[in-house]
Amino acid sequence: LEVLYTRHDLEKYLQRQQNLQQRLGFVPTMGALHQGHISLIEKSVAENHQSICSIFVNPEQFNNASDLSAYPRTPEQDLTMLEQAGCSAVWLPDVSVMYNGKSRTGFSFGNLESVLEGAFRPGHFNGVGLILAKFFNILRPDNTYMGLKDLQQFLIVRQLMHDLDIRGNLVPCPTIREPDGLAMSSRNRRLSESERQQAPIIHKTLQAIADNLNASEFQQTIAHAIANFNDHCQAKLEYLEIASLPYLQPIAAGEIPKQVAVCLAAWFGEVRLIDNLILTQTQTGWMPDQVILN
Ligand code: AMP
Repeated sequence: LEVLYTRHDLEKYLQRQQNLQQRLGFVPTMGALHQGHISLIEKSVAENHQSICSIFVNPEQFNNASDLSAYPRTPEQDLTMLEQAGCSAVWLPDVSVMYNGKSRTGFSFGNLESVLEGAFRPGHFNGVGLILAKFFNILRPDNTYMGLKDLQQFLIVRQLMHDLDIRGNLVPCPTIREPDGLAMSSRNRRLSESERQQAPIIHKTLQAIADNLNASEFQQTIAHAIANFNDHCQAKLEYLEIASLPYLQPIAAGEIPKQVAVCLAAWFGEVRLIDNLILTQTQTGWMPDQVILN
């Protein structure tokens, strides 16, 4: 594992790979790595000659200062996990390496940005777009691996790459869960014992919606699930919505999309967790899916 900090270190590494015409896989992360991240690294290692992981807690995508300062950082453990997963290089730039003063360029992602996470985290996706556009320009990866755990982020980055003609593939990766169904997340480390015990209700709620979904009664199913969530747990539900794919738009009465996502965000104390299930309509009902239809 090559550990790179400066732009100079990184350029030397990239030049070497370019000379060897090696296919480069890229996994952007904010560190505090867990098996969810490692599943992306393993896929990249299997599909590319070289795999580079970035670890950068991007201040531009935090809309809440205390979330940024409390974001878990475990650099030593991260390096050990990356080494064990066979990752070739890790880039850990300082904030000053990525941002030379305040960035003034902004993105607008159209329909995709005003809903769900976009509605509750103003500026978040602009920060995500900014850092990924920078990473893509600098690294020029052949394949980039991102998790469907952050479904809206995935769709926004896919649109960014398409609209700006950024070369390379964006590869969607399934959500890795704890045995009790809780989606792995760096923020899970911040949960108290009792919050951690309650957190699997997120996946249970999504699963119950998937099991009971009836095309003509989307809103009724969701209303029932919201009531159930509030009855069984002290967490504060921020949203629980069903949206059509691929633009995550609200579903009009009578509309029956081919594919939907059930998306949830909730506060467990100070910690905000998100999760989703993608459901595709089949002859036998709505089935969980890992592929986004166009
Ligand atoms: P983060 O460090 O939270 O910015 O996440 C880095 C990448 O890992 C993103 O593409 C996430 O979607 C992905 N990721 C985070 N948690 C999981 C998980 N439980 N399963 C699969 N991928 C994940």
